[in-house]
Amino acid sequence: MSISELESRVAEGGRLTRDEALFLYSEAPTYALGRMADGVRARKHPEGVVTYIIDRNVNYTNVCVARCNFCAFYRDVGHADGYVLGFDEIFKKIDETLAVGGVQLLLQGGHNPDLPLKWFEDLFRAVKSRYPSFKLHALSPPEVIHLSRLSRLPVPAVLDRLIDAGLDSVPGGGAEILVDRVRKLLNCYGKASSDEWLDVMRHAHRAGLRTTATMMYGTVETMEERLEHLFRLRDVQDETGGFTAFITWSYQPEHTERGGSEATGIEYLRTLAIARLVLDNFDNLQASWVTQGGKVGQLSLAFGANDMGSVMIEENVVRAAGASYCMDEVEIVRNVEDAGFLAKRRNMHYDILGDPIFRLREVPRMLSLATAREDGDTSVPSELMKYEARSAAGKRQRSPRTPTRPQ
Ligand code: SF4
Repeated sequence: MSISELESRVAEGGRLTRDEALFLYSEAPTYALGRMADGVRARKHPEGVVTYIIDRNVNYTNVCVARCNFCAFYRDVGHADGYVLGFDEIFKKIDETLAVGGVQLLLQGGHNPDLPLKWFEDLFRAVKSRYPSFKLHALSPPEVIHLSRLSRLPVPAVLDRLIDAGLDSVPGGGAEILVDRVRKLLNCYGKASSDEWLDVMRHAHRAGLRTTATMMYGTVETMEERLEHLFRLRDVQDETGGFTAFITWSYQPEHTERGGSEATGIEYLRTLAIARLVLDNFDNLQASWVTQGGKVGQLSLAFGANDMGSVMIEENVVRAAGASYCMDEVEIVRNVEDAGFLAKRRNMHYDILGDPIFRLREVPRMLSLATAREDGDTSVPSELMKYEARSAAGKRQRSPRTPTRPQ
């Protein structure tokens, strides 16, 4: 096998085997990987459009029992900095999202034992009754599994109840590397094994939901294990066709238990490019400018990405681990157009919604990212009192003697 033979095969739409992908990932020069990935991008998106979505990344709670050792975001049950957002806080965030042309919430959070399935159903119904056309891209597979364990209901039943309450699509978070050896070392095998993660996606796809898929690389995994992850995603996509997009980012080490250093920009671009080559049945690859910064994010458009992801309004998880890049719609569009593409707004299904909103009407510039809550705000939303807590700390907090958040 040679690089040029494989380049010809890929250019004709042929598939790579695992050995061929490993050969390219480890041996091909970066410019050659980029050229091949860009060819696939151009074949799939010949109109030269690069899309993005305006949505808000809201983390409804940072309380988590999973304790992944790569995570700087979570707080233990009972920790003074633990929070749960109130419904009114989430409505306010939706109002702010609508004001800048946003169309959905990306809603994810920790595995909080004191938030039962009913809390999510009530929240989703409340959102849909106030904002009927607003979309909920919510609850990654490990969160769905957590709710399944908490409610003692099988995953398909949990998904059915969430869909009934208003769930529109499922984000591909919590995949990390879909190899159990790696998951055990990252202490995230307990929250979801590789098979469990993939099975939630199969169930979601069968239930008619579209989902995304992700990969966080740069901890303990080998190059072969990254490829194993990609091939497992490709297999599920062959079965169901339910993934809309793939997003990869590098591990962000600051303030984590695991520590270490971050992969370089070149490693990101090579990983993105090999993903574009392996995932031949995925239509869309996003650039992760949130972890890589705007400049590498823009370069991603020459390494297989055809989408700039989200115009972030709020970010908590990556920021906790030391990365805090911010680009509003004006800046994203400037980067897309400067790279020679047409910038278009989209929804989660990758339907084009139109031209940049700031060219259609006046929208406020966002030069910094919001957070879930102001620092030091430890208020407890009053509606939490309606839901039974499982942990001792949660029970204490919801005792009638504990002061609640003023309405
Ligand atoms: S990555 Fe998610 S599941 Fe893991 S500790 Fe952080 S919040 Fe919890």
